[in-house]
Amino acid sequence: MLKQIVQRFTTNLEALASSSSSSSSSSRFDVHIKWKHLYHNRFRSMSSIPPHTTTTTTSYSVPKERVDCLVIGAGVVGIAVARALAVKDRDVLVIESAPTFGTGTSSRNSEVIHAGIYYPPNSFKATFCVRGREMLYDYCSKHDIPHKQIGKLIVATRSSEIPKLNDIINRAIQNGVDSLRMIDGTEAMEMEPELQCVKAILSPLSGIVDSHSLMLSLVGEAENQGATFTYNSTVIGGHHEGNQICLHISETKCLKEWKGTSILQPELVLIPKLVVNSAGLSAPILAKRFTGLQSRVVPPNYYARGCYFILSNTKGTPFRHLIYPIPEDGGLGVHVTLDLNGQIKFGPDVAWIDGVDDISSFLNKFDYSVHKDRVERFYPEIRKYYPNLKDDSLEPGYSGIRPKLSGPCQPPVDFVIQGEDIHGIPGLINLFGIESPGLTSSMAIAEYISTRFLG
Ligand SMILES: Cc1cc2nc3c(=O)[nH]c(=O)nc-3n(C[C@H](O)[C@H](O)[C@H](O)COP(=O)(O)OP(=O)(O)OC[C@H]3O[C@@H](n4cnc5c(N)ncnc54)[C@H](O)[C@@H]3O)c2cc1C
Repeated sequence: MLKQIVQRFTTNLEALASSSSSSSSSSRFDVHIKWKHLYHNRFRSMSSIPPHTTTTTTSYSVPKERVDCLVIGAGVVGIAVARALAVKDRDVLVIESAPTFGTGTSSRNSEVIHAGIYYPPNSFKATFCVRGREMLYDYCSKHDIPHKQIGKLIVATRSSEIPKLNDIINRAIQNGVDSLRMIDGTEAMEMEPELQCVKAILSPLSGIVDSHSLMLSLVGEAENQGATFTYNSTVIGGHHEGNQICLHISETKCLKEWKGTSILQPELVLIPKLVVNSAGLSAPILAKRFTGLQSRVVPPNYYARGCYFILSNTKGTPFRHLIYPIPEDGGLGVHVTLDLNGQIKFGPDVAWIDGVDDISSFLNKFDYSVHKDRVERFYPEIRKYYPNLKDDSLEPGYSGIRPKLSGPCQPPVDFVIQGEDIHGIPGLINLFGIESPGLTSSMAIAEYISTRFLG
Protein backbone atom coordinates (compact mmCIF):
# COMPACT_ATOMS: atom_id res chain seq x y z
CA MET A 1 0.00 0.00 0.00
CA LEU A 2 2.72 2.42 1.05
CA LYS A 3 4.63 1.60 -2.12
CA GLN A 4 1.61 2.60 -4.21
CA ILE A 5 1.21 5.86 -2.33
CA VAL A 6 4.88 6.65 -2.72
CA GLN A 7 4.74 5.81 -6.42
CA ARG A 8 1.68 7.99 -6.92
CA PHE A 9 3.31 10.83 -5.05
CA THR A 10 6.52 10.55 -7.07
CA THR A 11 4.58 10.50 -10.33
CA ASN A 12 2.72 13.62 -9.32
CA LEU A 13 5.91 15.36 -8.31
CA GLU A 14 7.37 14.56 -11.69
CA ALA A 15 4.23 15.87 -13.36
CA LEU A 16 4.46 19.05 -11.32
CA ALA A 17 8.12 19.51 -12.06
CA SER A 18 7.62 19.09 -15.80
CA SER A 19 4.64 21.44 -16.03
CA SER A 20 6.45 24.72 -16.52
CA SER A 21 3.70 27.26 -16.10
CA SER A 22 0.35 25.52 -16.40
CA SER A 23 -0.11 24.13 -12.90
CA SER A 24 -3.82 23.63 -13.62
CA SER A 25 -2.88 20.65 -15.79
CA SER A 26 -1.72 18.61 -12.80
CA SER A 27 -4.40 16.30 -11.54
CA ARG A 28 -5.87 16.23 -8.06
CA PHE A 29 -4.00 13.76 -5.94
CA ASP A 30 -4.51 12.31 -2.56
CA VAL A 31 -1.12 12.40 -0.94
CA HIS A 32 -0.15 10.52 2.14
CA ILE A 33 3.56 11.12 2.54
CA LYS A 34 5.75 8.93 4.66
CA TRP A 35 8.32 11.16 6.29
CA LYS A 36 11.32 9.23 5.15
CA HIS A 37 9.97 9.53 1.64
CA LEU A 38 9.44 13.25 2.01
CA TYR A 39 13.00 13.55 3.18
CA HIS A 40 14.37 11.76 0.12
CA ASN A 41 12.21 13.56 -2.44
CA ARG A 42 12.05 17.27 -3.03
CA PHE A 43 9.01 19.44 -3.20
CA ARG A 44 9.13 22.02 -5.92
CA SER A 45 11.54 24.79 -4.89
CA MET A 46 12.32 23.16 -1.59
CA SER A 47 15.91 23.56 -0.68
CA SER A 48 17.41 20.82 1.36
CA ILE A 49 19.73 20.92 4.29
CA PRO A 50 22.49 18.28 4.24
CA PRO A 51 21.09 14.94 5.46
CA HIS A 52 22.95 14.56 8.70
CA THR A 53 22.73 18.14 9.85
CA THR A 54 21.54 18.43 13.41
CA THR A 55 20.19 21.59 14.90
CA THR A 56 22.52 23.64 17.02
CA THR A 57 20.04 24.54 19.70
CA THR A 58 18.29 21.22 20.09
CA SER A 59 19.37 17.64 20.45
CA TYR A 60 17.19 16.52 17.52
CA SER A 61 19.16 14.42 15.11
CA VAL A 62 16.51 14.17 12.45
CA PRO A 63 16.22 15.18 8.82
CA LYS A 64 15.53 18.84 8.20
CA GLU A 65 13.92 20.37 5.14
CA ARG A 66 13.20 23.91 4.10
CA VAL A 67 9.74 24.70 2.77
CA ASP A 68 8.19 27.87 1.46
CA CYS A 69 4.74 28.13 3.09
CA LEU A 70 3.40 25.63 5.60
CA VAL A 71 -0.18 25.54 6.82
CA ILE A 72 -0.95 23.56 9.96
CA GLY A 73 -4.44 22.05 9.81
CA ALA A 74 -6.73 21.20 6.91
CA GLY A 75 -9.96 22.62 8.28
CA VAL A 76 -11.90 25.06 6.14
CA VAL A 77 -9.69 27.96 7.24
CA GLY A 78 -6.38 26.17 6.65
CA ILE A 79 -7.60 24.92 3.28
CA ALA A 80 -8.76 28.39 2.21
CA VAL A 81 -5.40 29.85 3.31
CA ALA A 82 -3.50 27.14 1.40
CA ARG A 83 -5.51 27.90 -1.73
CA ALA A 84 -4.98 31.65 -1.41
CA LEU A 85 -1.22 31.23 -0.97
CA ALA A 86 -0.98 28.72 -3.83
CA VAL A 87 -2.92 31.05 -6.12
CA LYS A 88 -0.21 33.64 -5.41
CA ASP A 89 2.28 31.12 -6.75
CA ARG A 90 3.78 30.16 -3.42
CA ASP A 91 4.76 26.57 -2.70
CA VAL A 92 2.42 25.34 -0.05
CA LEU A 93 2.53 22.29 2.17
CA VAL A 94 -0.42 21.54 4.45
CA ILE A 95 0.20 19.28 7.43
CA GLU A 96 -2.92 17.63 8.84
CA SER A 97 -2.98 15.17 11.74
CA ALA A 98 -6.18 13.41 10.66
CA PRO A 99 -6.44 10.95 7.74
CA THR A 100 -8.26 13.53 5.60
CA PHE A 101 -9.33 17.18 5.51
CA GLY A 102 -12.20 18.79 7.40
CA THR A 103 -12.68 16.29 10.22
CA GLY A 104 -12.51 18.89 13.02
CA THR A 105 -14.87 21.77 13.74
CA SER A 106 -15.30 22.32 10.00
CA SER A 107 -17.52 19.26 9.78
CA ARG A 108 -19.29 19.86 13.09
CA ASN A 109 -21.16 23.10 12.66
CA SER A 110 -24.49 24.54 11.47
CA GLU A 111 -23.28 25.11 7.87
CA VAL A 112 -24.89 28.52 7.92
CA ILE A 113 -23.60 31.33 5.75
CA HIS A 114 -23.93 34.18 8.21
CA ALA A 115 -24.81 37.67 7.03
CA GLY A 116 -22.51 39.44 9.58
CA ILE A 117 -25.16 40.66 12.00
CA TYR A 118 -24.00 40.09 15.55
CA TYR A 119 -20.37 41.11 15.78
CA PRO A 120 -18.90 44.37 17.10
CA PRO A 121 -18.39 46.88 14.27
CA ASN A 122 -14.88 46.90 12.79
CA SER A 123 -14.00 43.63 14.51
CA PHE A 124 -12.36 40.87 12.49
CA LYS A 125 -15.53 38.83 12.95
CA ALA A 126 -17.73 41.56 11.45
CA THR A 127 -15.35 42.45 8.62
CA PHE A 128 -14.47 38.89 7.63
CA CYS A 129 -18.04 37.64 7.92
CA VAL A 130 -19.42 40.31 5.57
CA ARG A 131 -16.56 39.96 3.08
CA GLY A 132 -16.40 36.16 3.49
CA ARG A 133 -20.13 35.79 2.87
CA GLU A 134 -19.85 37.72 -0.41
CA MET A 135 -16.82 35.67 -1.46
CA LEU A 136 -18.51 32.41 -0.44
CA TYR A 137 -21.72 32.99 -2.41
CA ASP A 138 -19.66 34.00 -5.41
CA TYR A 139 -17.37 30.96 -5.09
CA CYS A 140 -20.27 28.55 -4.55
CA SER A 141 -22.10 29.87 -7.62
CA LYS A 142 -19.01 29.67 -9.83
CA HIS A 143 -17.99 26.19 -8.65
CA ASP A 144 -21.42 24.55 -8.35
CA ILE A 145 -21.11 24.06 -4.59
CA PRO A 146 -24.53 23.16 -3.17
CA HIS A 147 -25.82 26.17 -1.23
CA LYS A 148 -29.04 28.11 -0.81
CA GLN A 149 -29.73 31.67 0.26
CA ILE A 150 -32.81 30.74 2.30
CA GLY A 151 -32.84 33.76 4.61
CA LYS A 152 -33.17 33.90 8.35
CA LEU A 153 -35.54 35.23 10.98
CA ILE A 154 -34.18 36.38 14.34
CA VAL A 155 -37.18 36.32 16.62
CA ALA A 156 -38.33 38.02 19.82
CA THR A 157 -40.78 35.67 21.49
CA ARG A 158 -41.87 38.19 24.14
CA SER A 159 -42.04 41.97 24.14
CA SER A 160 -39.21 42.28 26.69
CA GLU A 161 -36.85 40.94 23.98
CA ILE A 162 -37.70 43.63 21.43
CA PRO A 163 -35.00 46.11 22.63
CA LYS A 164 -32.44 43.36 22.02
CA LEU A 165 -33.72 42.98 18.45
CA ASN A 166 -33.27 46.75 18.01
CA ASP A 167 -29.68 46.50 19.25
CA ILE A 168 -29.00 43.60 16.88
CA ILE A 169 -30.36 45.40 13.80
CA ASN A 170 -28.45 48.61 14.63
CA ARG A 171 -25.23 46.70 14.99
CA ALA A 172 -25.85 44.82 11.73
CA ILE A 173 -26.42 48.09 9.87
CA GLN A 174 -23.11 49.43 11.25
CA ASN A 175 -21.47 46.25 9.95
CA GLY A 176 -22.74 47.02 6.46
CA VAL A 177 -25.26 44.18 6.28
CA ASP A 178 -27.79 45.15 3.60
CA SER A 179 -31.46 44.29 3.10
CA LEU A 180 -32.35 43.65 6.74
CA ARG A 181 -35.94 44.35 7.72
CA MET A 182 -37.63 44.55 11.12
CA ILE A 183 -41.03 42.89 10.71
CA ASP A 184 -44.07 42.40 12.93
CA GLY A 185 -44.83 39.05 14.48
CA THR A 186 -47.88 38.74 12.20
CA GLU A 187 -45.81 39.08 9.05
CA ALA A 188 -43.17 36.66 10.35
CA MET A 189 -45.86 34.12 11.27
CA GLU A 190 -47.44 34.46 7.83
CA MET A 191 -44.08 33.58 6.33
CA GLU A 192 -43.62 30.71 8.78
CA PRO A 193 -47.00 29.39 10.02
CA GLU A 194 -45.42 27.17 12.71
CA LEU A 195 -43.55 30.11 14.23
CA GLN A 196 -44.59 32.03 17.32
CA CYS A 197 -43.03 35.46 17.84
CA VAL A 198 -43.90 39.09 18.54
CA LYS A 199 -41.32 40.70 16.26
CA ALA A 200 -38.49 39.56 14.03
CA ILE A 201 -35.54 40.66 11.93
CA LEU A 202 -35.61 39.24 8.41
CA SER A 203 -32.11 38.64 7.05
CA PRO A 204 -32.44 37.69 3.37
CA LEU A 205 -28.64 37.34 2.92
CA SER A 206 -28.27 34.39 5.32
CA GLY A 207 -28.05 30.93 3.81
CA ILE A 208 -26.71 27.40 4.03
CA VAL A 209 -23.83 25.62 2.34
CA ASP A 210 -22.60 22.06 1.96
CA SER A 211 -19.33 22.57 3.84
CA HIS A 212 -17.82 19.29 2.68
CA SER A 213 -18.32 20.13 -1.00
CA LEU A 214 -16.86 23.55 -0.33
CA MET A 215 -13.74 22.11 1.29
CA LEU A 216 -13.37 19.47 -1.43
CA SER A 217 -13.45 22.14 -4.10
CA LEU A 218 -10.97 24.39 -2.27
CA VAL A 219 -8.58 21.45 -1.71
CA GLY A 220 -8.84 20.51 -5.40
CA GLU A 221 -8.10 24.06 -6.48
CA ALA A 222 -5.20 24.41 -4.06
CA GLU A 223 -3.72 21.15 -5.33
CA ASN A 224 -4.18 22.21 -8.92
CA GLN A 225 -2.18 25.30 -8.04
CA GLY A 226 0.59 23.07 -6.70
CA ALA A 227 -0.22 22.84 -2.97
CA THR A 228 0.43 19.50 -1.28
CA PHE A 229 -1.80 18.14 1.46
CA THR A 230 -0.13 15.71 3.83
CA TYR A 231 -2.43 13.74 6.08
CA ASN A 232 -1.70 11.53 9.11
CA SER A 233 1.10 13.92 10.03
CA THR A 234 1.19 16.08 13.11
CA VAL A 235 3.07 19.18 14.11
CA ILE A 236 4.07 18.41 17.68
CA GLY A 237 5.96 21.60 18.48
CA GLY A 238 8.68 23.85 17.26
CA HIS A 239 11.59 26.03 18.14
CA HIS A 240 12.96 29.33 17.03
CA GLU A 241 16.45 29.21 15.65
CA GLY A 242 18.31 32.16 14.23
CA ASN A 243 15.67 34.04 12.36
CA GLN A 244 13.53 31.00 11.59
CA ILE A 245 10.85 28.84 13.04
CA CYS A 246 11.58 25.11 12.95
CA LEU A 247 8.55 22.84 13.16
CA HIS A 248 8.71 19.39 14.68
CA ILE A 249 6.73 16.81 12.73
CA SER A 250 5.69 13.33 13.66
CA GLU A 251 3.56 10.71 12.00
CA THR A 252 0.17 10.65 13.70
CA LYS A 253 0.51 6.86 14.02
CA CYS A 254 3.57 7.34 16.24
CA LEU A 255 1.65 9.76 18.46
CA LYS A 256 -1.15 7.26 18.82
CA GLU A 257 1.36 4.63 19.87
CA TRP A 258 3.29 6.95 22.18
CA LYS A 259 2.90 5.83 25.79
CA GLY A 260 4.12 9.05 27.38
CA THR A 261 7.03 7.29 29.08
CA SER A 262 9.74 8.67 26.78
CA ILE A 263 10.48 12.13 25.38
CA LEU A 264 8.44 12.76 22.26
CA GLN A 265 10.94 13.17 19.42
CA PRO A 266 10.04 14.54 15.99
CA GLU A 267 10.76 12.46 12.91
CA LEU A 268 11.37 15.49 10.75
CA VAL A 269 12.04 19.18 11.24
CA LEU A 270 10.57 21.53 8.64
CA ILE A 271 11.81 25.09 8.28
CA PRO A 272 9.19 27.20 6.50
CA LYS A 273 9.52 30.78 5.38
CA LEU A 274 5.89 31.29 6.35
CA VAL A 275 3.84 29.14 8.69
CA VAL A 276 0.14 29.53 9.40
CA ASN A 277 -0.97 27.86 12.61
CA SER A 278 -4.56 27.02 11.67
CA ALA A 279 -4.96 24.07 14.02
CA GLY A 280 -8.42 25.14 15.24
CA LEU A 281 -9.10 23.82 18.74
CA SER A 282 -5.40 22.93 19.08
CA ALA A 283 -3.93 26.20 17.82
CA PRO A 284 -3.19 27.78 21.23
CA ILE A 285 -2.08 24.51 22.78
CA LEU A 286 0.29 23.93 19.85
CA ALA A 287 1.65 27.47 20.06
CA LYS A 288 2.56 26.76 23.68
CA ARG A 289 4.85 24.03 22.36
CA PHE A 290 6.83 26.51 20.23
CA THR A 291 9.87 27.25 22.35
CA GLY A 292 10.90 30.84 21.79
CA LEU A 293 7.31 32.05 21.53
CA GLN A 294 6.56 34.05 24.65
CA SER A 295 3.76 32.40 26.60
CA ARG A 296 2.09 35.78 27.24
CA VAL A 297 1.14 36.07 23.56
CA VAL A 298 -0.89 32.85 23.66
CA PRO A 299 -4.38 33.71 24.91
CA PRO A 300 -6.19 31.47 27.39
CA ASN A 301 -8.44 29.01 25.59
CA TYR A 302 -11.83 27.61 26.55
CA TYR A 303 -14.06 25.01 24.98
CA ALA A 304 -17.83 25.22 24.62
CA ARG A 305 -19.51 22.15 23.17
CA GLY A 306 -22.68 22.64 21.16
CA CYS A 307 -25.02 19.68 20.64
CA TYR A 308 -27.59 19.28 17.89
CA PHE A 309 -30.83 17.31 17.95
CA ILE A 310 -32.54 16.24 14.74
CA LEU A 311 -36.26 16.65 14.14
CA SER A 312 -37.91 13.30 13.45
CA ASN A 313 -41.38 11.91 13.73
CA THR A 314 -42.84 15.09 12.16
CA LYS A 315 -44.69 15.40 8.86
CA GLY A 316 -43.09 17.74 6.34
CA THR A 317 -40.63 20.50 7.08
CA PRO A 318 -42.07 23.02 9.56
CA PHE A 319 -39.76 25.87 8.50
CA ARG A 320 -38.34 27.25 5.27
CA HIS A 321 -36.09 29.86 6.85
CA LEU A 322 -33.39 29.61 9.47
CA ILE A 323 -34.99 30.61 12.77
CA TYR A 324 -32.79 32.09 15.49
CA PRO A 325 -33.82 33.20 18.97
CA ILE A 326 -32.04 36.07 20.75
CA PRO A 327 -28.35 35.10 21.31
CA GLU A 328 -27.33 33.60 24.65
CA ASP A 329 -24.06 33.60 26.62
CA GLY A 330 -21.44 31.72 24.55
CA GLY A 331 -23.59 31.06 21.46
CA LEU A 332 -26.36 32.18 19.14
CA GLY A 333 -29.11 30.24 20.92
CA VAL A 334 -30.77 26.91 20.04
CA HIS A 335 -31.78 27.73 16.49
CA VAL A 336 -33.42 25.98 13.57
CA THR A 337 -31.09 24.99 10.78
CA LEU A 338 -32.05 23.24 7.61
CA ASP A 339 -29.61 21.24 5.61
CA LEU A 340 -29.72 21.12 1.83
CA ASN A 341 -31.85 17.95 1.96
CA GLY A 342 -34.48 19.77 3.98
CA GLN A 343 -33.68 17.99 7.25
CA ILE A 344 -34.24 20.15 10.29
CA LYS A 345 -31.82 20.26 13.20
CA PHE A 346 -31.95 22.26 16.40
CA GLY A 347 -28.91 23.54 18.19
CA PRO A 348 -26.24 24.11 19.15
CA ASP A 349 -26.62 24.57 22.89
CA VAL A 350 -23.70 25.67 25.05
CA ALA A 351 -21.90 23.38 27.50
CA TRP A 352 -18.53 24.57 28.80
CA ILE A 353 -16.20 21.59 28.89
CA ASP A 354 -12.66 20.87 30.02
CA GLY A 355 -9.94 20.61 27.43
CA VAL A 356 -7.71 17.61 26.86
CA ASP A 357 -3.92 17.39 27.02
CA ASP A 358 -1.93 18.66 24.03
CA ILE A 359 -1.27 15.35 22.27
CA SER A 360 -4.90 14.25 22.72
CA SER A 361 -5.92 17.60 21.29
CA PHE A 362 -3.79 17.05 18.16
CA LEU A 363 -5.48 13.65 17.83
CA ASN A 364 -8.90 15.32 18.19
CA LYS A 365 -9.78 13.28 21.26
CA PHE A 366 -12.36 15.77 22.48
CA ASP A 367 -15.62 14.67 23.99
CA TYR A 368 -18.17 14.98 21.16
CA SER A 369 -20.82 12.83 22.80
CA VAL A 370 -24.42 14.03 22.64
CA HIS A 371 -26.08 12.88 25.85
CA LYS A 372 -29.72 12.17 25.20
CA ASP A 373 -30.62 13.73 28.59
CA ARG A 374 -29.70 17.14 27.18
CA VAL A 375 -32.82 17.00 25.05
CA GLU A 376 -34.89 17.98 28.09
CA ARG A 377 -33.34 21.47 27.88
CA PHE A 378 -34.08 21.67 24.16
CA TYR A 379 -37.85 21.20 24.27
CA PRO A 380 -38.65 24.30 26.40
CA GLU A 381 -36.13 26.45 24.48
CA ILE A 382 -37.53 25.45 21.08
CA ARG A 383 -41.19 25.66 22.15
CA LYS A 384 -40.70 29.36 22.89
CA TYR A 385 -40.77 29.90 19.10
CA TYR A 386 -42.15 26.53 17.87
CA PRO A 387 -44.99 25.71 20.29
CA ASN A 388 -46.24 22.75 18.23
CA LEU A 389 -43.03 20.78 18.68
CA LYS A 390 -44.25 17.28 19.56
CA ASP A 391 -42.97 15.23 22.49
CA ASP A 392 -40.39 12.61 21.48
CA SER A 393 -39.68 14.26 18.15
CA LEU A 394 -36.00 15.08 18.80
CA GLU A 395 -33.20 12.60 18.30
CA PRO A 396 -29.54 13.07 19.24
CA GLY A 397 -27.55 14.39 16.27
CA TYR A 398 -23.92 15.46 16.55
CA SER A 399 -21.86 18.04 18.37
CA GLY A 400 -19.10 20.54 17.69
CA ILE A 401 -16.74 22.35 20.01
CA ARG A 402 -16.16 26.09 19.87
CA PRO A 403 -12.51 27.18 20.18
CA LYS A 404 -13.19 30.10 22.52
CA LEU A 405 -10.89 32.74 23.93
CA SER A 406 -13.29 33.89 26.65
CA GLY A 407 -14.94 31.79 29.31
CA PRO A 408 -18.44 31.60 30.79
CA CYS A 409 -20.08 34.99 31.43
CA GLN A 410 -17.12 36.83 29.88
CA PRO A 411 -17.72 39.08 26.86
CA PRO A 412 -17.03 37.46 23.46
CA VAL A 413 -13.53 37.88 22.06
CA ASP A 414 -12.66 38.60 18.44
CA PHE A 415 -10.69 36.30 16.13
CA VAL A 416 -6.98 36.66 16.88
CA ILE A 417 -4.51 36.77 13.99
CA GLN A 418 -0.96 37.17 15.24
CA GLY A 419 2.03 38.02 13.11
CA GLU A 420 5.61 39.04 13.87
CA ASP A 421 4.47 42.48 15.08
CA ILE A 422 2.78 40.76 18.04
CA HIS A 423 5.08 37.87 18.89
CA GLY A 424 8.40 38.84 17.29
CA ILE A 425 8.92 35.63 15.29
CA PRO A 426 9.29 36.28 11.55
CA GLY A 427 7.05 34.19 9.33
CA LEU A 428 4.78 32.81 12.07
CA ILE A 429 1.06 33.53 11.87
CA ASN A 430 -1.14 32.20 14.66
CA LEU A 431 -4.90 31.96 14.22
CA PHE A 432 -6.65 31.73 17.57
CA GLY A 433 -10.35 31.58 18.51
CA ILE A 434 -11.67 30.93 15.00
CA GLU A 435 -15.15 30.04 16.16
CA SER A 436 -18.39 31.06 14.40
CA PRO A 437 -18.54 32.75 11.90
CA GLY A 438 -15.29 31.01 10.87
CA LEU A 439 -16.86 28.94 8.09
CA THR A 440 -18.43 32.03 6.52
CA SER A 441 -15.24 34.04 7.07
CA SER A 442 -12.78 31.41 5.81
CA MET A 443 -12.10 32.88 2.36
CA ALA A 444 -11.85 36.42 3.76
CA ILE A 445 -9.38 35.30 6.44
CA ALA A 446 -7.35 33.64 3.68
CA GLU A 447 -7.49 36.79 1.56
CA TYR A 448 -6.33 38.87 4.55
CA ILE A 449 -3.40 36.57 5.28
CA SER A 450 -2.26 36.35 1.69
CA THR A 451 -2.48 40.14 1.31
CA ARG A 452 -1.11 41.30 4.64
CA PHE A 453 1.67 38.77 5.10
CA LEU A 454 2.77 38.23 1.50
CA GLY A 455 2.40 41.86 0.42
C1 LIG B 1 -21.22 24.09 17.05
C2 LIG B 1 -20.63 25.02 16.03
C3 LIG B 1 -21.44 25.61 15.05
C4 LIG B 1 -20.88 26.48 14.11
N1 LIG B 1 -21.68 26.99 13.12
C5 LIG B 1 -21.15 27.80 12.19
C6 LIG B 1 -21.95 28.32 11.15
O1 LIG B 1 -23.11 27.96 11.00
N2 LIG B 1 -21.39 29.20 10.29
C7 LIG B 1 -20.09 29.60 10.40
O2 LIG B 1 -19.66 30.46 9.63
N3 LIG B 1 -19.28 29.08 11.35
C8 LIG B 1 -19.77 28.18 12.23
N4 LIG B 1 -18.98 27.63 13.19
C9 LIG B 1 -17.55 27.95 13.18
C10 LIG B 1 -16.77 27.14 12.15
O3 LIG B 1 -17.19 25.80 12.11
C11 LIG B 1 -15.29 27.21 12.48
O4 LIG B 1 -14.94 28.56 12.67
C12 LIG B 1 -14.41 26.65 11.38
O5 LIG B 1 -14.84 25.37 11.00
C13 LIG B 1 -12.98 26.59 11.89
O6 LIG B 1 -12.17 26.02 10.91
P1 LIG B 1 -10.64 25.77 11.21
O7 LIG B 1 -10.04 25.36 9.92
O8 LIG B 1 -10.07 26.96 11.91
O9 LIG B 1 -10.62 24.62 12.32
P2 LIG B 1 -10.83 23.05 12.19
O10 LIG B 1 -11.92 22.70 11.26
O11 LIG B 1 -10.96 22.53 13.58
O12 LIG B 1 -9.48 22.54 11.56
C14 LIG B 1 -8.28 22.44 12.31
C15 LIG B 1 -7.52 21.25 11.76
O13 LIG B 1 -6.25 21.20 12.37
C16 LIG B 1 -5.90 19.84 12.58
N5 LIG B 1 -4.87 19.81 13.63
C17 LIG B 1 -5.03 20.05 14.94
N6 LIG B 1 -3.84 19.97 15.57
C18 LIG B 1 -2.91 19.68 14.63
C19 LIG B 1 -1.52 19.48 14.67
N7 LIG B 1 -0.83 19.61 15.81
N8 LIG B 1 -0.87 19.14 13.52
C20 LIG B 1 -1.55 19.02 12.35
N9 LIG B 1 -2.89 19.21 12.26
C21 LIG B 1 -3.56 19.55 13.38
C22 LIG B 1 -7.22 19.21 12.98
O14 LIG B 1 -7.19 17.81 12.79
C23 LIG B 1 -8.20 19.93 12.08
O15 LIG B 1 -8.43 19.23 10.89
C24 LIG B 1 -19.49 26.76 14.15
C25 LIG B 1 -18.68 26.16 15.12
C26 LIG B 1 -19.25 25.28 16.04
C27 LIG B 1 -18.36 24.62 17.06
